[in-house]
Amino acid sequence: MKNAIKFFFLTVFILTFSLSSSITAQQQEPVPVKASQVKGNIYEVEGGRGANAGFFIGEKEVLVIDAKMTEESAKQMIAEIKKLTSNPIKYVILTHSDGDHVNGLVGFPADVIIAAHHQTAKDMDAAFKDAKLRSYLPDFTFSKKLKLHSGDKTVKLFHFGPAHTSGDVVVYFPEEKVAFIGDLLFLGRDPLIHRHKNGNSFGLVKTLKSILKLGADTFIHGHGSIASPSDLEGVIKSLEEKQTKIKALIKEGKSLEEIKKIFNVEDRPPRPGRSRRPGLVETIYLELTEKK
Ligand SMILES: [Zn+2]
Repeated sequence: MKNAIKFFFLTVFILTFSLSSSITAQQQEPVPVKASQVKGNIYEVEGGRGANAGFFIGEKEVLVIDAKMTEESAKQMIAEIKKLTSNPIKYVILTHSDGDHVNGLVGFPADVIIAAHHQTAKDMDAAFKDAKLRSYLPDFTFSKKLKLHSGDKTVKLFHFGPAHTSGDVVVYFPEEKVAFIGDLLFLGRDPLIHRHKNGNSFGLVKTLKSILKLGADTFIHGHGSIASPSDLEGVIKSLEEKQTKIKALIKEGKSLEEIKKIFNVEDRPPRPGRSRRPGLVETIYLELTEKK
């Protein structure tokens, strides 16, 4: 019997070990960049390094949404586009300023027109140190909404306020009912709010509700497979529940430490070279208690 238990633990150990080593291998060698058709001329790009991206093939030009994280992955994405069309890439629209969405810009042709929210442009201006990256700062910015035309196609860009960051952009194709929403949605994990970029959880609820009102049925986001309106509804519901519960606990006089315990939240050590970033519960607590 003892031997059987030993064998069991050994098996678990070997399984865990091989699982974790395959995860490490995955981090070293990403899956190849691949474009897949979403609807009509709209494609999603997965794989490589960096978040999911996408593109639209217009009559005369290609419009790209997000730029991957490295020059190599961006070039692989461009190779995928070239397999489908000889039209030149005219625009790159950025959903926000995080490196896994923008650092691949260096792999794009120098004459590409880069569009972003003005706050994203500011964040990129602060983050882009080397000269090559700096030549890819946004060419034009907007604050609330912007319409782009590609032939007879209209693409609508929206910013609904601070959410994941303070410069999030939704790229909406009304005809196809497809929206690219960057990191405004995470499925199977807590929403990610970048307080260091003035993101806001209450703003995220507002933004997700505004996105639902657009009437899209297909949502492409940075780190997961294609989502539906009910996925967004689920995130809104659980986020609102969390906010309501934390508000009540603060009212009862509970401290941040006590609230974290109630939610079973443990602080993760910060990543090397990065300042500590609060998790969702702490973020909501801080939003509710800080003086405006
Ligand atoms: Zn992000």
